[in-house]
Amino acid sequence: MIMPNTFRGGVHPESHKRDSKDRPLETLPPPPELVLPLSMHIGAPCEPTVMAGDRVLVGSLIANSSAPISAPIHSPVSGRVAAIEPRPHPNGGLVQSIVITNDGLDKPDPLIDTRGSVESLTPKDIIEIARNAGVVGLGGAAFPAAAKIQSGIGKTDTLIINCAECEPYITSGYRAMIENTDEILGGVRLLAKALEPKITVMALEANKLDVAERFRERIGDDKSIEVKVLKTKYPQGGEKQLVRAVTGRKVPPGQLPSAVGCTVFNPETAAAIYRAAMTGAPLLTRGVTVAGSAISNPKNLLVRIGTPLRYLISAVGGFKADPYKLILGGPMMGSALSSLDAPVIKSTNALLAFAEGEDRFDPNPTCIHCGKCLKVCPMNLMPLYINMYYTHHLDDELKTTNVSDCIECGSCAYVCPGRLHLTQVCRAAKAHLQDLARKEAQGK
Ligand code: SF4
Ligand code: SF4
Repeated sequence: MIMPNTFRGGVHPESHKRDSKDRPLETLPPPPELVLPLSMHIGAPCEPTVMAGDRVLVGSLIANSSAPISAPIHSPVSGRVAAIEPRPHPNGGLVQSIVITNDGLDKPDPLIDTRGSVESLTPKDIIEIARNAGVVGLGGAAFPAAAKIQSGIGKTDTLIINCAECEPYITSGYRAMIENTDEILGGVRLLAKALEPKITVMALEANKLDVAERFRERIGDDKSIEVKVLKTKYPQGGEKQLVRAVTGRKVPPGQLPSAVGCTVFNPETAAAIYRAAMTGAPLLTRGVTVAGSAISNPKNLLVRIGTPLRYLISAVGGFKADPYKLILGGPMMGSALSSLDAPVIKSTNALLAFAEGEDRFDPNPTCIHCGKCLKVCPMNLMPLYINMYYTHHLDDELKTTNVSDCIECGSCAYVCPGRLHLTQVCRAAKAHLQDLARKEAQGK
């Protein structure tokens, strides 16, 4: 038996994937109105290229930016621009958004350039295709794919496809790997063409052996792509943890996987690049798992970006219990959602709803110095000291904790018997130190 590779630390939360893993991606009809925030990726927000009243078609460019790290936005339906105005954003607050009234005709934009073949594409073409299609990292990070390919050229000996999907409840990526295997591998080959790695590794957790088998069947004798099964452990899908588990290399603090010769892509991102290369189609849809104890009928949905989250809840039969807590993304790294009026954006991989009594909230959290948080932190940090220094305003001590390396995985909070809100504290401490550094640089 081959021993699966892994990384230091981590936790083993109950996966809760059974409810949705066998539910194939179901195409959700687009709603009457879609909302596209101008900021739904890492990098510069876009500027609208349309005005209220303009007619748009499926795939029409509606917003763009000339910044090197950004991703254009396209209309997911045909219809009319109803307004450009602040609307609720899934990450909180109001964000300038393009509101489109759907005419129900799904008329494609004739400007979309269909290729039908990818054989002759150069690395430059692949970057341009990813950029023009507005493809971003679909695992949740939403980093523009073109910028990532560009930054990995000449620095990548190992291309890693992150098929871990280690967060509990989420199975939309699993479904995509089962249902769109060929598109994913087509995209992986395009990425390999652009990055010229020595080896490409499809990295999965040991709980997805059926996907591993499927990949192996399709890859056949191609020795340039290897399927590697890793231990099932959270956060196996964290980029630095994945690099460590696959190659044994340690990404230095504050650096990216390319510092140790690796570039990491999500399989659905690869598929989106392949689709754009073959059909010219920009990124208009994404898979979303809708699950949790308050959901009547958990499902995986294929949703047009811009669809209000409320619409997804109706598609799964509504709530079976009062939704005490709504989370966008997984329960470990996702964020609490305050309004179902916000839309699905490019980074939305799951919408979870939980009934009362399922969270670990304690109004009087107390550290009992058990040391569990030290053992599980995959970044080798000391969450109890981060918590102590931050809450007691000990900035000099806080600066010695390397909290900026925290990947906000939630493992420490998950094991903490004192119910301390360690992930929130780490997030706040990182922002606080950044703020201090900015003020110091300005001489304040
Ligand atoms: S300190 Fe950060 S990286 Fe370490 S376990 Fe906690 S959330 Fe994860
Ligand atoms: S796990 Fe919680 S209680 Fe234990 S040392 Fe860390 S912060 Fe304290």
